[in-house]
Amino acid sequence: MTLPTAPFQKRIAVVGGGVMGAMTAHHLLERGAHVTLYDPLPYNNSINASSDTGRSFRVHYGDDLVLMDMALESRVLWKKMEADAGAATSNSKSWFHPSGKMLLADAGDPYARECALAMRNHGLLSREFTAAQAAARYGFQVNSAVLDPYGGILSPGRILAHLNTTLTADGLQRRGRVEALASRWVRDASGTKTQFDAVVVTAGAWTQQLLGSDIAVTSTRQQLVYFDAASALGRDISHLPVFSHMESGFYGIPTQADGLVKIANHHPGPAAHPDGDDRRVDLAFIDAARNFLARYHPKLAKAEIRRTHVCFYTGTRDRDFILDRIEHGPARGVIVGTGFSGHGFKFAPLIGRTLAELALNKTTSISIERFRSSRPGLYAPTSVVAV
Ligand SMILES: Cc1cc2nc3c(=O)[nH]c(=O)nc-3n(C[C@H](O)[C@H](O)[C@H](O)COP(=O)(O)OP(=O)(O)OC[C@H]3O[C@@H](n4cnc5c(N)ncnc54)[C@H](O)[C@@H]3O)c2cc1C
Repeated sequence: MTLPTAPFQKRIAVVGGGVMGAMTAHHLLERGAHVTLYDPLPYNNSINASSDTGRSFRVHYGDDLVLMDMALESRVLWKKMEADAGAATSNSKSWFHPSGKMLLADAGDPYARECALAMRNHGLLSREFTAAQAAARYGFQVNSAVLDPYGGILSPGRILAHLNTTLTADGLQRRGRVEALASRWVRDASGTKTQFDAVVVTAGAWTQQLLGSDIAVTSTRQQLVYFDAASALGRDISHLPVFSHMESGFYGIPTQADGLVKIANHHPGPAAHPDGDDRRVDLAFIDAARNFLARYHPKLAKAEIRRTHVCFYTGTRDRDFILDRIEHGPARGVIVGTGFSGHGFKFAPLIGRTLAELALNKTTSISIERFRSSRPGLYAPTSVVAV
């Protein structure tokens, strides 16, 4: 089957409708393509990695200038999309709450100051807090802290709801689960095989199932605990930044809409897959999350737990993204965006644009050399990234 299109209009399939697939579809439609998005799930669900109450945005990335620049450009794109959606001026609709992102530092822990220095050397602002200042302003109990003022909280629910409406209005075709694919065709669960000019796979933890061994990614099980911050802090929650502690791996994301603070750990958990997982959080993790708060934000540690959840990171061996057209194997020619681990959401507008450019055979606006699917780093030992 070949989909009807206007003359010269490219027909592109996007397989996977999380934030990366939705953003890719957005950029493809903007460039005049005819787009079919395949996903068996509704845009808002509790299964994929893109659905949650809040996602951390930050610009600090240690001394990684490439990711810092990508975060800065993504911030501009988020702001523009938010303004275009008419959501920028209303608290109840906004996509991005500019709370800042705070790095908590113990005595002798150099990471936060190194980030501050790297930002300064890159011409960016950051703000250092003494123990007394961090306690007085936010209630943190730390040796010192660094605030990334470009940081904040993205609202996946609002973003995906908006994209769902506008993509449909812009002519997006939706289909369900894909059973098989190659660079120029997709076969869905009904057995229908459809021809395309290009196929983009943004299937998160399901990437390996679709592409086999051509792409090496693994998914890990991450546990999340949501504390009732509003009852513990009152209105102070609206001033609380996203916060993280590098060594322990724990981080917190306050979301004003529901008054909760999500506590999770960015260190990759055990290898596991979302299909069939019971999504239960174990008591040991709940204790560890509360102990983290008791140490670094004692007032929050008293809050009740409202809910828990389990989500899955999809990571590569070198913990970097894959944004590329596959060069070898049965999936040769398929365009893939994966390996976004626990920190990809913030880059979604930029990643969507890059995958759309690849699908339309355009030169990409960012260099993708580092993100090639054939790079040696994909076979290197695993390292850790921060949220
Ligand atoms: C717990 C957690 C916390 C995170 N925190 C942050 C954060 O604070 N900041 C940040 O920037 N990033 C964060 N991330 C990362 C970010 O959320 C993810 O990188 C991003 O959402 C991945 O989006 P995706 O579209 O690639 O994948 P997904 O959202 O998982 O979407 C993949 C889609 O593919 C579909 N699919 C699967 N198989 C098929 C098939 N056969 N046919 C058709 N469709 C299929 C699935 O149904 C799914 O909807 C976090 C991730 C997790 C899990």
